[in-house]
Amino acid sequence: MQFRDLKKQYQALKSDIDRGIQEVIDSSAFISGRQVEALERELAAYVGVKHCISCANGTDALSLALMVWDIGPGDAVFVPDFTFFASGEVVAFEGAVPVFVDVEEDTFNLSPDSLEEAVEKVLAEGKLTPKAVIAVDLFGQPADYGRILPIVRKYGMKLLEDGAQGFGGGIGGRKACSFGDISATSFFPAKPLGCYGDGGALFTDDDDIAELLLSLRVHGKGGDKYDNVRVGMNSRLDTIQAAVLQTKLRAFREYELRDVNRVASRYTELLSDVVKTPVVPEGFESSWAQYSILLDNRQERDGLQKALKQQEIPSMIYYPKPMHLQKAFRAEDCVKVDLSVTTGLCDRVLSIPMHPYLQPEEQDIVVDAVRRFRA
Ligand SMILES: *Cc1c(COP(=O)(O)O)cnc(C)c1O
Repeated sequence: MQFRDLKKQYQALKSDIDRGIQEVIDSSAFISGRQVEALERELAAYVGVKHCISCANGTDALSLALMVWDIGPGDAVFVPDFTFFASGEVVAFEGAVPVFVDVEEDTFNLSPDSLEEAVEKVLAEGKLTPKAVIAVDLFGQPADYGRILPIVRKYGMKLLEDGAQGFGGGIGGRKACSFGDISATSFFPAKPLGCYGDGGALFTDDDDIAELLLSLRVHGKGGDKYDNVRVGMNSRLDTIQAAVLQTKLRAFREYELRDVNRVASRYTELLSDVVKTPVVPEGFESSWAQYSILLDNRQERDGLQKALKQQEIPSMIYYPKPMHLQKAFRAEDCVKVDLSVTTGLCDRVLSIPMHPYLQPEEQDIVVDAVRRFRA
């Protein structure tokens, strides 16, 4: 059994993917081929925003957004304590301070109350300027933007949606990657919409931001590539990856998102009486980057993982360590509020096999193993 079965997906889409890749090779337009712009149009239409700017990976996408806002030394950017390292890394990379904010146990996402408390603490200290919030759509579910955005606006900050895991999710019919002033996603192979290598994209409704992003992703180009008006990056999506994504986006829209939600509902139905299963609040939709259950404590969680391993069932711990305990960050700068929900989640969380091609028979094996362990 695979944790995320990319081989099965390829078998289902093989003829279209092979043809798409071959067309790129035949054209030899490996960088900025026509498939890149076509994909950007399709992605923008799907998400429901004016502009999509593709780039080399999700981490670059986050960095490019911070560059647009000129975030740097002396600035505070608020980041959930429970996320992948890159969400905070990009802040430190720009020379600003990532201030970690606790999450809500039910949804694993940024707690608006903790956010407001952290902003107030930073203001009271008077050393850093609150500039932006990076809200993460963890495990496929959008953060609570209805409650986060008013706080962002109240303090005159910018909102960056880290939708690396959230592509395809939504709130009240509005799609993930449309909630930020700028939104970012990743096409790393295991994400909800993945390519065959690294890839990423940015989304915005703002024409000026879009233009700036187009410049920043190609060495700060002005009129052309050899007229450089600012310092940027080299961060483009390869044409081959765009071709792969065109086919995969079609499958994602036509059935994968529906099927992965079917798998999630079935897990919840069969497991919710023995472990804490993920909560999707009314009106929210998840794209199920992960299906993460909660055990009572670390010992139980590690015990279940061991039991699953003995039965050759893969599982993952996302994430074993809170951001504020990562050695790369200086805790004395980054910690302003209580982060105990995150610390608890890191001990208790376990993600089980999850993807649109997971068969009921495979699911039953996972469910039986979890239920036996809890019996
Ligand atoms: C994967 C991920 C990223 C980084 O994306 P890459 O394409 O791997 O650079 C950023 N944030 C979150 C929440 C992620 O899961």
